[in-house]
Amino acid sequence: MAADGAWREFSIRTRQRSELVELTDQVNHLLADAGIRQGVCQLSVLHTTAALLVNEAEPGLIEDLLRTLDRLIPADPAYAHPDGNGHAHMKAALLGSSKTLSIRDGRLLLGTWQSLFLVEFDGPRERQLVLQLLSA
Ligand code: ZN
Repeated sequence: MAADGAWREFSIRTRQRSELVELTDQVNHLLADAGIRQGVCQLSVLHTTAALLVNEAEPGLIEDLLRTLDRLIPADPAYAHPDGNGHAHMKAALLGSSKTLSIRDGRLLLGTWQSLFLVEFDGPRERQLVLQLLSA
């Protein structure tokens, strides 16, 4: 892999205020395009009100996850942060903005029930992501 091929940038247009957008297939396409077979990838979302998550792509579970986060971190106008989206920042801080995953046989190494998601907490917005690929 060429040295300048170690980075891939892409964007995702989210559609809802809060939602999970599955990234697994898109990242696997980027890995195939880069020609990397074995290694590690670091994926980052370059925002403070969106996060990355690995979990199961089951609609009921996704609904449960968003509802649970709403219960833990309600959209309360009393947050000190002035944008009115303090809850979105806190949810994103809880889940984190990056994931490091192994690459095996040219694909993300994920379990049978695992998928990679972008988690939007303050959409709809255009979200920028960066993938750094390290060949092993
Ligand atoms: Zn804000």
